Amino acid sequence: MPDDMVEGHIDGMRNAIAAGWSVLERGGSALDAVEEAVVIMEDDEIFDAGRGSFLNRDGKVQLDALIMDGATLRAGGVGCVERLPNPVRAARKILSESPHVYFVGEGAERFAAEHGCELCRNEDLVIPREVERLRRYQAEANSHGKELFAPSSDDVTISHDTVGAVALDSNGNIAAATSTGGTLNKAPGRLGDSSLIGCGCYANNESAAVSTTGWGEPIMKLVLAKWTADRVAAGNLPEWAAQEAMNYLKQRVNGHGGIIVLDAQGQFGIAHNTPRMAWGFKTVKKEDAAVERAG
Ligand code: ASP
Repeated sequence: MPDDMVEGHIDGMRNAIAAGWSVLERGGSALDAVEEAVVIMEDDEIFDAGRGSFLNRDGKVQLDALIMDGATLRAGGVGCVERLPNPVRAARKILSESPHVYFVGEGAERFAAEHGCELCRNEDLVIPREVERLRRYQAEANSHGKELFAPSSDDVTISHDTVGAVALDSNGNIAAATSTGGTLNKAPGRLGDSSLIGCGCYANNESAAVSTTGWGEPIMKLVLAKWTADRVAAGNLPEWAAQEAMNYLKQRVNGHGGIIVLDAQGQFGIAHNTPRMAWGFKTVKKEDAAVERAG
């Protein structure tokens, strides 16, 4: 993220933490907490989720989101939606009110509308900053004769602002949610890791709640969120598993990204192999939010 956006990221995370915490404080579920935290970040234009997301090759916003309950393993996901300002709300409706787990495109929007979610126009999700970012990227790609496709996955200079949250509630249940606009200049219809179970998001009380960000394609190939949760189930600390996940991502598929991991005992880990990552947490003892630089 550029230097002038650091404060905005920290503010956005503090607001998300406050929303999630207020659910937990009154005895609410981890599932409700991650939903509320992610809604705050979807509503905040600074992040690549909801309004203000990166634009695809056609200049449209296309969103993916997943939410998962570690107690029951119920999950809800939406992919390639264009008219939902809060895709995580639709994902939650799928989790709670549908026998299915995943909806895409127009069918997802129809399901969401039928279950009380507000629909908007795609233009309402597009902001001038992103129109300009896409214009600059496409002009640059053209001038180098590059194929007008998503930037390559080893380009760590293009930011990733996917949002995610993990939480543990007073009943000992954990949950995770991830929401994204995906990658800049992506091909229409391209789905990333964020909304796929076990890739960009996973939760199981018996292992861990995990949310990832970064280039989706390498993360998908490793089913990275589940890979990490399995390391925790095998007895490793979330902190170690998070770091190992980033090492594995780099070594095995030359991927880059970041990850947050939380187990049902409240132990957590945060790691990234990108130049920077924004993260924040709150426990009964401590609150912190930071934009961390690598190395
Ligand atoms: N993982 C997201 C995707 O590939 C992008 C990101 O995390 O910024 O769609």
